[in-house]
Amino acid sequence: MQKRNTAQKKAIFEELRARRDHPSATRLYEDLKERYPNLSKATVYRVLKNAADEGEILRLHVGPEDRFDGDAKDHLHVICTRCGDVHDEALPPMGLEKLEKNYGYAISSRHVELYGVCPACQKAAE
Ligand SMILES: [Zn+2]
Ligand SMILES: [Zn+2]
Repeated sequence: MQKRNTAQKKAIFEELRARRDHPSATRLYEDLKERYPNLSKATVYRVLKNAADEGEILRLHVGPEDRFDGDAKDHLHVICTRCGDVHDEALPPMGLEKLEKNYGYAISSRHVELYGVCPACQKAAE
């Protein structure tokens, strides 16, 4: 039992890290279930939720369902408000040292999201 759970967990992380579309748990489950018929949706939810709580992966609050990112390193997200497309960008320097010095905060994590309309949606609206 334990062994199967570990294998499923590995498959979930491998799939998440192999793609850059920041899928929801439902989406990831749909794409994995053909290859892993024993996998349950509840397992995918639980594995992703626990990993996000531990900071191993990122959780994004976009649209009706949370989305997940296998890359937990610093980067910012540009999010389309129409189709929910999530695009990764490098994080520009933010002067955090100065901020910590001025306000006495010890910054432990940062999460930057920019919202707009993606090129495809702009084109579709023309
Ligand atoms: Zn769009
Ligand atoms: Zn990302």
